[in-house]
Amino acid sequence: MFCAIVAGRAPASIVYRDRTTLAFMDVNPVRPGHVLVIPAAHRAQIWDLGEAESAAVYRRLPALASALKAAVAADAVTIFSLNGRAAGQTVFHLHFHLVPV
Ligand code: 5GP
Repeated sequence: MFCAIVAGRAPASIVYRDRTTLAFMDVNPVRPGHVLVIPAAHRAQIWDLGEAESAAVYRRLPALASALKAAVAADAVTIFSLNGRAAGQTVFHLHFHLVPV
């Protein structure tokens, strides 16, 4: 499903993209400004990422979280990722939730 967003075949409010990483607004935000950050390549869970891919995605998180915090004047940002059905994952393309608080 998120691959369709990466490919431009499904709509999304994209806030950041580069060759390896995409960030877009969650369609059902738990709080206003809820953003999802994903690897552009399809990787179901965190253990499917190679080290270089992992580094490419992770190195964007500080700036994205900082920009989000400023954009909605939040006090804080919760960052989490559910990996595996038993953890509550519902979309099986790795994603990090950035939720302003
Ligand atoms: P999970 O439970 O897998 O960690 O969370 C999946 C998240 O993806 C949920 O917060 C849900 O609202 C969001 N989501 C599911 N489908 C779509 C979609 O098609 N577009 C966008 N932008 N977000 C989605």
